Amino acid sequence: MYKNILPGILLALLLLQCSSLLAQHGLHCAYDQAVHMQTELHPAYKAAADKAFEKAKNNVLARSGKTADEETLRIPIVVHLLHNTPEQEISDDLVHSQIEALNLHFNRLSADTANTREIFLPLATSANIEFYLADVDPDGEPTNGIVRKEVDNYYWADLLTALQPGGLDAIKSSAQGGSDPWDTERYCNIWVGNMALDIFGTETPGALGFAYPPVETTIFPAETFPPNVEDADGLVIDYRAFGVNNPIAETIDMGNGNTLADTNWDGKTCVHEMGHYLGLRHIWGDGGNPLLGTPGTCEEDDFIDDTPRATSNGAQVCDLSKDTCPDEEVLPGIDTAAAYPDMVENYMDYSSESCQNMFTAQQVALMREMITLYREGLLGEEINVNNENLEAKAIALYPNPSQGIFTIDLGDQKSGSLQVIDPAGKVVQEMQVNQARLQVNLSKQADGVYLILFNNEDIKESKRLVLMR
Ligand SMILES: [Zn+2]
Repeated sequence: MYKNILPGILLALLLLQCSSLLAQHGLHCAYDQAVHMQTELHPAYKAAADKAFEKAKNNVLARSGKTADEETLRIPIVVHLLHNTPEQEISDDLVHSQIEALNLHFNRLSADTANTREIFLPLATSANIEFYLADVDPDGEPTNGIVRKEVDNYYWADLLTALQPGGLDAIKSSAQGGSDPWDTERYCNIWVGNMALDIFGTETPGALGFAYPPVETTIFPAETFPPNVEDADGLVIDYRAFGVNNPIAETIDMGNGNTLADTNWDGKTCVHEMGHYLGLRHIWGDGGNPLLGTPGTCEEDDFIDDTPRATSNGAQVCDLSKDTCPDEEVLPGIDTAAAYPDMVENYMDYSSESCQNMFTAQQVALMREMITLYREGLLGEEINVNNENLEAKAIALYPNPSQGIFTIDLGDQKSGSLQVIDPAGKVVQEMQVNQARLQVNLSKQADGVYLILFNNEDIKESKRLVLMR
């Protein structure tokens, strides 16, 4: 008798407690919860995520001391925009601003990199990863990389489904009213919708986003995994936290005296979730209970050696004096032991976006290795084509970085077509070329990383051009 009643009472108490705490604090990112919930029903899930992490990290360590891989990794993105009311609609411009924000922050090109504290500067590293909206859909048809859908669901999570494994994944399935992914091996899928919780009819701040990490599936029995493990792969971002200067964010009270626009205006929720998608964990090691606000210990780790230990997350503020593990540590890349403050600058913290401006060298190395090991299908043919006879056929750009006007030297290649693609994935110039050398003027374009694509019958080649004034 008690056995039947007690869990019910406990669940009800837990729900009530969670609902009031969620209302008070909100929940920045549900990565840890999503991984734990999947593991509840599917015991190998976390082991498979840990295995993937371990394998990537071992590869990185085995390579240490060698020259870093300089190849730019290009990742195609499809954004699924799901709205039930006009207020939930996201503009194409906001999507473009988000892609640009990913490129700025993953490549240390944003102005706020100037705010990285000196003590952490030796560790702050560009990931040399570019994101672009897919230009070809799974059927081979041209696309703008945006799927827009009016849906029946106002919410994608209520408290009961959100506490179940896979309960946050309905947005990823047409059968459940959402939008089916594009082949998750070839595209990075981002779903944008209302991730607030429906708690007994009251809209309550829920997760701003979550993403599942890469998993090593080959050494575990298939039945120990969630059946949707491939179809659920990708990022989910609440529609209020997506893009740069999202106008809806101003209307969201975070419960700590700030609106969402005060803490999450700069597209960094998506940067953070992309970090998870590429295998990174929270820098404080997910110790303690973020929902209850109780801290962990300095023993919990993100298993990245060049992020200092911390017992708690950055709590959506920018506290540069935060130093929860004041003992001296030696961080690889910095020779001397020092009492490092908590690295609130890191995109994988929960500090406010005004604080966040860096990934570390080891985080970058791990993400790049994860792409090579588990997400190689994203890189597509272009990268492979580029690697062939690169020396003999390479085109050159100079000066690079450029202030606007630069020269493209095509070497032996004299004719073909040229495209200039801006940081958001839009083609801003397109031309047929019939000469070995030509000047291109981008002085009317905004600063950022541009992609120069050249192709003819013999080669297809891309080069990055940094526009910086
Ligand atoms: Zn997170």
